[in-house]
Amino acid sequence: MIGLLRTLQRAVAPKPLAPSSIRIGADLLDVVFRRHAQARRLVLRLDSQGTSVLVTVPRGVSRARALDFTERSRPWIEERVRSRGGNVHLLPGHRIPLRGVEHEIRHVPKRRGSVAADPAEGVIHVPGEPPHVPRRLADFLKSAAKADLTAASQRYAQMMGVSYRRITIRDQKTRWGSCSASGELSYSWRLILAPSYVLDYVAAHEVAHLKHLDHSPRFWRLVLIHCPNAARAKKWLKAHGHDVHRVVA
Ligand SMILES: [Zn+2]
Repeated sequence: MIGLLRTLQRAVAPKPLAPSSIRIGADLLDVVFRRHAQARRLVLRLDSQGTSVLVTVPRGVSRARALDFTERSRPWIEERVRSRGGNVHLLPGHRIPLRGVEHEIRHVPKRRGSVAADPAEGVIHVPGEPPHVPRRLADFLKSAAKADLTAASQRYAQMMGVSYRRITIRDQKTRWGSCSASGELSYSWRLILAPSYVLDYVAAHEVAHLKHLDHSPRFWRLVLIHCPNAARAKKWLKAHGHDVHRVVA
């Protein structure tokens, strides 16, 4: 009896519509269809984050028609995405730099294990449930930043004959790194997005402050002896520094 009821319910209740996606420039937006019994016409809007297109579908309107409507609304969607102002979200289909190499974020729901970057392919594979993709990727980037910055700081500390107390990774808006008088180094996790010679330079700079807490000629001499790429790295930060702050994490 219950089985028969279920079968009847299935036949009467409208089936949920399978989602789709639409590419707008470099962004791949999810298209989510929602059936609404009271809706009179197809309505389309962008979600608050600007990462999905939400389409309200009245009763009796097919998915094919809803898709067609979405495609015809492309100019409107493009305009809205543009006015959103160039933020890069950690979502599938988006591209972010990792160690200076552009990578596409790819969600691999069936794969087990941890986030894995494939620089040769230019892809970062993110396993797990879809809602967890941004957080998992942010965690991955921050721990990669910590690993690279720790390795670089240790290397320069050894070369310069100094020692530090600890390393903290932060999201500093105005500084790439800092060094306290008590020997604590602090870095922006976003340095992992920059080419490795840039991350190295920032580490060399902060570690050199363990010896000279100023920007005196002695300080710069120490940096340049151990980091010949310093000038190139400074130029890169000036030219591209704002790009790595567009990544939302
Ligand atoms: Zn400095």
